[in-house]
Amino acid sequence: MSERRIPLAEPLLGGNEKKYLLECIDSTFVSSVGPFVRRFEEEFAAQVGNRFAVACASGTAALHVAMRLAGVEPGDDVFVASLTFIASANPIVYEKANPVFIDSEAESWNMDPGLVVEELNRRARLGLKQPRAIEVVHLLGQPARMEELMDACERHGIFLIEDASEALGATYTGGAFDGKQVGSIGKVGCFSFNGNKLLTSGGGGMITTNDPELARRAKHLTTQARLPGLEYRHDEIGYNYRLTNLAAALGLAQLEKMPELLASKRGNAAFFDQALASLRGLSVGPRTSWSAPSNWLYSITLNPDIFGRTSRETIEFLQAESIEARPIWSPLHTQTIFSGAALLGSGKVAEKLFAQALSLPSSAGLTAGDRDRVVAAMTRAHETAKKAALTGESR
Ligand SMILES: *Cc1c(COP(=O)(O)O)cnc(C)c1O
Repeated sequence: MSERRIPLAEPLLGGNEKKYLLECIDSTFVSSVGPFVRRFEEEFAAQVGNRFAVACASGTAALHVAMRLAGVEPGDDVFVASLTFIASANPIVYEKANPVFIDSEAESWNMDPGLVVEELNRRARLGLKQPRAIEVVHLLGQPARMEELMDACERHGIFLIEDASEALGATYTGGAFDGKQVGSIGKVGCFSFNGNKLLTSGGGGMITTNDPELARRAKHLTTQARLPGLEYRHDEIGYNYRLTNLAAALGLAQLEKMPELLASKRGNAAFFDQALASLRGLSVGPRTSWSAPSNWLYSITLNPDIFGRTSRETIEFLQAESIEARPIWSPLHTQTIFSGAALLGSGKVAEKLFAQALSLPSSAGLTAGDRDRVVAAMTRAHETAKKAALTGESR
Protein backbone atom coordinates (compact mmCIF):
# COMPACT_ATOMS: atom_id res chain seq x y z
CA MET A 1 0.00 0.00 0.00
CA SER A 2 1.45 3.37 -0.96
CA GLU A 3 -1.40 5.65 -0.06
CA ARG A 4 -0.56 9.32 0.34
CA ARG A 5 0.11 10.28 3.94
CA ILE A 6 -2.58 12.71 5.03
CA PRO A 7 -0.98 15.39 7.23
CA LEU A 8 -2.74 17.16 10.07
CA ALA A 9 -2.59 20.60 8.48
CA GLU A 10 -0.65 21.72 5.43
CA PRO A 11 -0.72 25.11 3.71
CA LEU A 12 -2.76 25.65 0.55
CA LEU A 13 -0.87 27.90 -1.86
CA GLY A 14 -2.53 28.55 -5.16
CA GLY A 15 -3.21 32.25 -5.49
CA ASN A 16 -0.83 35.18 -5.96
CA GLU A 17 1.89 33.78 -3.67
CA LYS A 18 4.42 33.17 -6.45
CA LYS A 19 3.62 36.39 -8.27
CA TYR A 20 4.04 38.56 -5.16
CA LEU A 21 7.24 36.80 -4.11
CA LEU A 22 8.71 37.37 -7.57
CA GLU A 23 7.73 41.05 -7.30
CA CYS A 24 9.77 41.24 -4.08
CA ILE A 25 12.79 39.69 -5.77
CA ASP A 26 12.52 41.79 -8.91
CA SER A 27 12.21 44.98 -6.84
CA THR A 28 15.01 43.91 -4.40
CA PHE A 29 12.62 44.64 -1.48
CA VAL A 30 13.11 41.33 0.27
CA SER A 31 13.74 42.49 3.84
CA SER A 32 11.87 44.57 6.39
CA VAL A 33 11.18 47.53 4.15
CA GLY A 34 8.78 47.25 1.25
CA PRO A 35 5.23 47.81 0.11
CA PHE A 36 3.81 44.40 1.01
CA VAL A 37 4.19 44.92 4.76
CA ARG A 38 1.96 48.00 4.73
CA ARG A 39 -0.56 46.36 2.38
CA PHE A 40 -0.72 43.19 4.47
CA GLU A 41 -1.28 45.26 7.64
CA GLU A 42 -4.01 47.42 6.11
CA GLU A 43 -5.90 44.58 4.49
CA PHE A 44 -5.57 42.36 7.56
CA ALA A 45 -6.99 45.09 9.82
CA ALA A 46 -9.93 45.52 7.45
CA GLN A 47 -10.49 41.76 7.35
CA VAL A 48 -10.54 41.38 11.15
CA GLY A 49 -12.56 44.54 11.68
CA ASN A 50 -9.99 46.63 13.54
CA ARG A 51 -8.61 50.07 12.65
CA PHE A 52 -4.96 49.07 12.91
CA ALA A 53 -2.72 46.05 12.42
CA VAL A 54 1.01 45.80 13.07
CA ALA A 55 2.96 42.96 11.47
CA CYS A 56 5.34 40.92 13.64
CA ALA A 57 7.95 38.22 13.13
CA SER A 58 5.75 35.57 14.78
CA GLY A 59 2.61 35.12 16.83
CA THR A 60 4.80 34.72 19.91
CA ALA A 61 6.45 38.08 19.15
CA ALA A 62 2.99 39.65 18.78
CA LEU A 63 2.02 38.33 22.22
CA HIS A 64 5.29 39.56 23.72
CA VAL A 65 4.66 43.05 22.37
CA ALA A 66 1.09 42.81 23.72
CA MET A 67 2.52 42.18 27.22
CA ARG A 68 4.58 45.36 26.90
CA LEU A 69 1.54 47.30 25.66
CA ALA A 70 -0.39 46.09 28.69
CA GLY A 71 2.39 47.41 30.94
CA VAL A 72 3.19 43.95 32.34
CA GLU A 73 6.08 44.22 34.80
CA PRO A 74 8.11 41.76 36.88
CA GLY A 75 5.97 40.23 39.63
CA ASP A 76 2.64 41.06 37.96
CA ASP A 77 0.02 38.36 37.49
CA VAL A 78 -1.34 37.63 34.03
CA PHE A 79 -4.32 35.28 33.72
CA VAL A 80 -4.18 32.86 30.79
CA ALA A 81 -5.98 29.66 29.82
CA SER A 82 -4.22 26.48 30.88
CA LEU A 83 -5.35 24.52 27.84
CA THR A 84 -3.30 26.20 25.13
CA PHE A 85 -0.04 26.07 23.20
CA ILE A 86 2.94 27.17 25.27
CA ALA A 87 3.43 30.27 23.10
CA SER A 88 0.44 31.79 24.90
CA ALA A 89 2.28 31.74 28.23
CA ASN A 90 5.96 32.18 27.41
CA PRO A 91 5.71 35.94 26.70
CA ILE A 92 4.34 36.43 30.23
CA VAL A 93 7.52 34.88 31.57
CA TYR A 94 9.70 36.91 29.17
CA GLU A 95 8.53 39.91 31.21
CA LYS A 96 9.22 38.09 34.50
CA ALA A 97 5.52 38.16 35.33
CA ASN A 98 3.56 35.22 36.75
CA PRO A 99 1.13 33.27 34.63
CA VAL A 100 -2.03 32.32 36.52
CA PHE A 101 -3.59 29.42 34.67
CA ILE A 102 -7.37 29.21 34.32
CA ASP A 103 -9.19 25.92 33.85
CA SER A 104 -11.41 25.41 30.79
CA GLU A 105 -15.17 25.33 30.67
CA ALA A 106 -16.69 22.33 28.94
CA GLU A 107 -18.89 24.27 26.51
CA SER A 108 -16.15 26.05 24.55
CA TRP A 109 -13.00 24.33 25.92
CA ASN A 110 -11.71 27.87 26.62
CA MET A 111 -10.95 29.92 29.75
CA ASP A 112 -13.82 29.61 32.24
CA PRO A 113 -15.08 33.19 32.76
CA GLY A 114 -16.80 32.21 36.02
CA LEU A 115 -13.45 31.41 37.64
CA VAL A 116 -11.99 34.72 36.43
CA VAL A 117 -14.88 36.88 37.60
CA GLU A 118 -14.92 35.18 41.01
CA GLU A 119 -11.18 35.74 41.50
CA LEU A 120 -11.27 39.39 40.39
CA ASN A 121 -14.14 40.06 42.79
CA ARG A 122 -12.29 38.27 45.59
CA ARG A 123 -9.16 40.33 45.03
CA ALA A 124 -11.20 43.55 44.88
CA ARG A 125 -12.96 42.67 48.15
CA LEU A 126 -9.69 41.94 49.93
CA GLY A 127 -7.82 44.87 48.38
CA LEU A 128 -5.34 42.51 46.67
CA LYS A 129 -3.41 43.44 43.55
CA GLN A 130 -5.31 42.60 40.37
CA PRO A 131 -3.68 40.91 37.38
CA ARG A 132 -2.08 43.36 34.96
CA ALA A 133 -3.67 41.61 31.99
CA ILE A 134 -5.97 38.79 31.04
CA GLU A 135 -5.03 36.81 27.95
CA VAL A 136 -7.97 34.93 26.53
CA VAL A 137 -7.15 32.22 23.97
CA HIS A 138 -9.58 31.13 21.28
CA LEU A 139 -8.57 27.49 21.05
CA LEU A 140 -8.59 25.36 17.89
CA GLY A 141 -10.85 27.84 16.06
CA GLN A 142 -13.50 28.11 18.79
CA PRO A 143 -14.28 31.58 20.21
CA ALA A 144 -14.10 31.93 23.99
CA ARG A 145 -17.00 33.34 26.03
CA MET A 146 -16.04 37.01 25.99
CA GLU A 147 -18.94 38.97 27.43
CA GLU A 148 -18.29 38.22 31.10
CA LEU A 149 -14.53 38.66 30.61
CA MET A 150 -14.91 42.03 28.88
CA ASP A 151 -17.33 43.22 31.57
CA ALA A 152 -15.00 42.14 34.36
CA CYS A 153 -11.94 43.70 32.69
CA GLU A 154 -13.74 47.00 32.25
CA ARG A 155 -15.01 46.97 35.82
CA HIS A 156 -11.58 46.27 37.30
CA GLY A 157 -9.52 48.22 34.75
CA ILE A 158 -7.65 45.21 33.39
CA PHE A 159 -6.03 45.04 29.94
CA LEU A 160 -7.55 42.28 27.83
CA ILE A 161 -5.39 40.52 25.24
CA GLU A 162 -6.91 38.08 22.76
CA ASP A 163 -4.68 35.26 21.52
CA ALA A 164 -6.57 34.59 18.30
CA SER A 165 -3.68 32.65 16.71
CA GLU A 166 -5.79 29.55 16.19
CA ALA A 167 -9.10 31.17 15.34
CA LEU A 168 -8.67 33.80 12.62
CA GLY A 169 -12.09 34.27 11.01
CA ALA A 170 -14.14 32.80 13.85
CA THR A 171 -17.14 35.01 14.64
CA TYR A 172 -19.68 35.69 17.37
CA THR A 173 -23.26 35.10 16.29
CA GLY A 174 -25.33 36.67 19.02
CA GLY A 175 -25.07 38.72 22.18
CA ALA A 176 -23.05 41.87 22.67
CA PHE A 177 -20.44 40.94 20.04
CA ASP A 178 -22.79 39.67 17.35
CA GLY A 179 -20.97 39.73 13.99
CA LYS A 180 -17.56 40.51 15.50
CA GLN A 181 -14.50 38.40 14.80
CA VAL A 182 -12.13 37.06 17.42
CA GLY A 183 -9.15 39.37 17.92
CA SER A 184 -11.19 42.53 17.33
CA ILE A 185 -12.80 42.83 20.76
CA GLY A 186 -10.14 43.14 23.48
CA LYS A 187 -7.60 45.97 23.72
CA VAL A 188 -5.39 44.05 21.32
CA GLY A 189 -5.68 40.86 19.28
CA CYS A 190 -2.72 38.64 18.39
CA PHE A 191 -2.48 36.33 15.39
CA SER A 192 0.02 33.81 13.99
CA PHE A 193 0.92 32.97 10.41
CA ASN A 194 2.93 29.86 11.21
CA GLY A 195 2.79 27.17 8.52
CA ASN A 196 -0.08 25.25 10.10
CA LYS A 197 -2.39 28.20 10.80
CA LEU A 198 -5.35 29.31 8.67
CA LEU A 199 -3.10 31.71 6.73
CA THR A 200 0.65 31.35 6.52
CA SER A 201 3.37 33.86 5.70
CA GLY A 202 6.00 31.15 6.18
CA GLY A 203 6.18 32.48 9.73
CA GLY A 204 4.81 35.69 11.16
CA GLY A 205 2.22 37.34 13.31
CA MET A 206 0.00 40.39 13.68
CA ILE A 207 -1.27 42.67 16.43
CA THR A 208 -4.64 44.33 15.86
CA THR A 209 -6.22 47.20 17.79
CA ASN A 210 -8.59 50.14 17.46
CA ASP A 211 -6.36 52.37 19.60
CA PRO A 212 -4.01 54.55 17.52
CA GLU A 213 -1.60 55.02 20.43
CA LEU A 214 -1.31 51.26 21.04
CA ALA A 215 -0.76 50.71 17.31
CA ARG A 216 1.96 53.36 17.20
CA ARG A 217 3.69 51.91 20.24
CA ALA A 218 3.44 48.34 18.89
CA LYS A 219 5.17 49.40 15.65
CA HIS A 220 7.78 51.26 17.71
CA LEU A 221 8.55 48.21 19.87
CA THR A 222 8.82 45.88 16.86
CA THR A 223 11.37 48.21 15.25
CA GLN A 224 13.94 48.48 18.07
CA ALA A 225 12.09 51.49 19.53
CA ARG A 226 14.02 53.66 17.13
CA LEU A 227 13.15 57.36 17.02
CA PRO A 228 12.72 59.20 13.72
CA GLY A 229 15.85 60.91 12.47
CA LEU A 230 19.24 59.87 11.15
CA GLU A 231 21.15 59.20 14.31
CA TYR A 232 19.89 55.89 15.65
CA ARG A 233 18.36 57.15 18.87
CA HIS A 234 16.11 54.84 20.88
CA ASP A 235 13.82 55.79 23.76
CA GLU A 236 13.22 52.34 25.29
CA ILE A 237 14.20 48.69 24.90
CA GLY A 238 12.61 47.37 21.74
CA TYR A 239 12.92 44.30 19.56
CA ASN A 240 13.66 43.30 16.02
CA TYR A 241 10.23 41.77 15.57
CA ARG A 242 9.58 43.05 12.05
CA LEU A 243 8.02 40.93 9.35
CA THR A 244 9.97 40.81 6.10
CA ASN A 245 8.48 42.03 2.84
CA LEU A 246 8.88 38.47 1.51
CA ALA A 247 6.79 37.05 4.34
CA ALA A 248 4.21 39.83 4.00
CA ALA A 249 3.93 39.12 0.26
CA LEU A 250 3.11 35.50 1.02
CA GLY A 251 0.73 36.53 3.81
CA LEU A 252 -1.11 39.01 1.59
CA ALA A 253 -1.62 36.41 -1.13
CA GLN A 254 -2.98 34.04 1.50
CA LEU A 255 -5.24 36.75 2.93
CA GLU A 256 -6.82 37.21 -0.50
CA LYS A 257 -7.82 33.55 -0.34
CA MET A 258 -9.07 33.66 3.24
CA PRO A 259 -12.80 33.31 2.44
CA GLU A 260 -12.00 30.18 0.45
CA LEU A 261 -9.67 28.75 3.13
CA LEU A 262 -12.24 29.39 5.84
CA ALA A 263 -15.02 27.83 3.77
CA SER A 264 -12.87 24.71 3.24
CA LYS A 265 -12.19 24.36 6.98
CA ARG A 266 -15.87 24.73 7.75
CA GLY A 267 -16.72 22.32 4.94
CA ASN A 268 -14.37 19.71 6.42
CA ALA A 269 -16.02 20.15 9.81
CA ALA A 270 -19.56 19.90 8.46
CA PHE A 271 -18.61 16.73 6.59
CA PHE A 272 -16.90 15.07 9.56
CA ASP A 273 -19.64 16.12 12.00
CA GLN A 274 -22.14 14.28 9.86
CA ALA A 275 -20.01 11.30 8.83
CA LEU A 276 -18.72 10.55 12.34
CA ALA A 277 -22.01 11.14 14.15
CA SER A 278 -22.94 7.46 14.23
CA LEU A 279 -19.74 6.33 15.99
CA ARG A 280 -20.70 5.70 19.57
CA GLY A 281 -18.43 7.22 22.20
CA LEU A 282 -17.25 9.96 19.82
CA SER A 283 -18.24 13.60 20.41
CA VAL A 284 -17.38 16.49 18.13
CA GLY A 285 -15.62 19.58 19.49
CA PRO A 286 -17.39 22.69 20.76
CA ARG A 287 -20.57 23.67 18.89
CA THR A 288 -22.25 26.66 20.51
CA SER A 289 -25.32 28.64 19.50
CA TRP A 290 -23.43 31.92 19.94
CA SER A 291 -20.41 31.41 17.68
CA ALA A 292 -19.31 30.35 14.22
CA PRO A 293 -15.94 28.66 14.77
CA SER A 294 -13.23 28.70 12.10
CA ASN A 295 -12.71 24.95 12.58
CA TRP A 296 -8.95 25.45 12.28
CA LEU A 297 -8.14 22.00 13.68
CA TYR A 298 -11.06 19.60 13.59
CA SER A 299 -11.08 18.02 17.04
CA ILE A 300 -13.17 15.36 18.73
CA THR A 301 -13.27 13.61 22.08
CA LEU A 302 -13.48 9.87 22.63
CA ASN A 303 -15.00 8.12 25.60
CA PRO A 304 -12.75 5.03 25.53
CA ASP A 305 -15.22 2.81 27.38
CA ILE A 306 -17.81 3.30 24.65
CA PHE A 307 -15.69 4.04 21.57
CA GLY A 308 -13.42 1.10 22.37
CA ARG A 309 -10.09 2.91 22.08
CA THR A 310 -8.47 5.81 23.88
CA SER A 311 -7.61 8.94 21.93
CA ARG A 312 -3.92 7.93 21.99
CA GLU A 313 -4.66 4.40 20.75
CA THR A 314 -6.77 5.91 18.00
CA ILE A 315 -3.94 8.26 16.99
CA GLU A 316 -1.67 5.19 16.64
CA PHE A 317 -4.35 3.33 14.70
CA LEU A 318 -4.65 6.24 12.25
CA GLN A 319 -0.87 6.55 12.04
CA ALA A 320 -0.69 2.96 10.78
CA GLU A 321 -3.08 4.01 8.01
CA SER A 322 -0.87 6.98 7.05
CA ILE A 323 -3.25 9.48 8.59
CA GLU A 324 -1.80 12.06 10.95
CA ALA A 325 -3.83 12.84 14.06
CA ARG A 326 -2.56 14.52 17.23
CA PRO A 327 -3.49 15.17 20.84
CA ILE A 328 -4.53 18.73 21.68
CA TRP A 329 -2.19 20.89 23.82
CA SER A 330 -0.95 19.58 27.18
CA PRO A 331 -2.54 21.80 29.85
CA LEU A 332 0.16 24.25 30.91
CA HIS A 333 -0.49 23.74 34.63
CA THR A 334 0.72 20.13 34.13
CA GLN A 335 4.02 21.16 32.48
CA THR A 336 7.05 20.77 34.73
CA ILE A 337 8.40 24.22 33.80
CA PHE A 338 5.23 25.78 35.21
CA SER A 339 4.94 23.58 38.30
CA GLY A 340 5.19 26.62 40.60
CA ALA A 341 2.47 28.60 38.83
CA ALA A 342 -0.97 29.32 40.26
CA LEU A 343 -4.07 27.60 38.91
CA LEU A 344 -7.68 28.76 39.19
CA GLY A 345 -10.18 25.93 39.20
CA SER A 346 -9.27 22.29 39.62
CA GLY A 347 -7.72 21.93 36.17
CA LYS A 348 -9.78 18.79 35.73
CA VAL A 349 -11.82 20.09 32.78
CA ALA A 350 -8.65 20.85 30.81
CA GLU A 351 -7.05 17.56 31.88
CA LYS A 352 -10.05 15.52 30.77
CA LEU A 353 -10.21 17.29 27.41
CA PHE A 354 -6.48 16.67 26.98
CA ALA A 355 -6.91 12.97 27.75
CA GLN A 356 -9.93 12.44 25.52
CA ALA A 357 -9.41 14.79 22.58
CA LEU A 358 -7.60 14.41 19.30
CA SER A 359 -7.38 16.51 16.15
CA LEU A 360 -8.00 14.93 12.76
CA PRO A 361 -6.59 16.08 9.40
CA SER A 362 -7.91 19.58 8.82
CA SER A 363 -6.08 21.07 5.83
CA ALA A 364 -8.04 23.46 3.63
CA GLY A 365 -6.83 21.34 0.71
CA LEU A 366 -8.25 18.06 2.01
CA THR A 367 -9.81 16.17 -0.91
CA ALA A 368 -13.08 14.23 -0.85
CA GLY A 369 -10.94 11.08 -1.05
CA ASP A 370 -8.87 12.18 1.97
CA ARG A 371 -11.98 12.85 4.00
CA ASP A 372 -13.45 9.47 3.09
CA ARG A 373 -10.21 7.75 4.14
CA VAL A 374 -10.31 9.50 7.52
CA VAL A 375 -13.92 8.50 8.11
CA ALA A 376 -13.28 4.91 7.01
CA ALA A 377 -10.27 4.64 9.30
CA MET A 378 -12.17 6.10 12.27
CA THR A 379 -15.00 3.69 11.61
CA ARG A 380 -12.56 0.75 11.50
CA ALA A 381 -10.90 1.96 14.69
CA HIS A 382 -14.30 1.77 16.38
CA GLU A 383 -15.55 -1.44 14.76
CA THR A 384 -12.38 -3.49 15.29
CA ALA A 385 -12.19 -2.38 18.92
CA LYS A 386 -15.78 -3.45 19.43
CA LYS A 387 -15.04 -6.87 17.93
CA ALA A 388 -11.98 -7.29 20.12
CA ALA A 389 -14.08 -6.44 23.17
CA LEU A 390 -16.76 -8.98 22.17
CA THR A 391 -14.21 -11.79 21.72
CA GLY A 392 -12.66 -10.95 25.07
CA GLU A 393 -9.30 -9.66 23.75
CA SER A 394 -7.81 -6.89 25.76
CA ARG A 395 -7.38 -3.48 24.16
C1 LIG B 1 0.52 29.19 16.98
C2 LIG B 1 0.17 29.81 18.25
C3 LIG B 1 0.83 30.96 18.77
C4 LIG B 1 2.00 31.66 18.17
O1 LIG B 1 2.62 31.14 17.18
P1 LIG B 1 3.98 31.41 16.40
O2 LIG B 1 4.41 30.05 16.04
O3 LIG B 1 4.92 32.13 17.28
O4 LIG B 1 3.59 32.23 15.21
C5 LIG B 1 0.35 31.51 19.94
N1 LIG B 1 -0.68 30.99 20.59
C6 LIG B 1 -1.34 29.90 20.13
C7 LIG B 1 -2.51 29.42 20.91
C8 LIG B 1 -0.92 29.26 18.97
O5 LIG B 1 -1.56 28.17 18.56
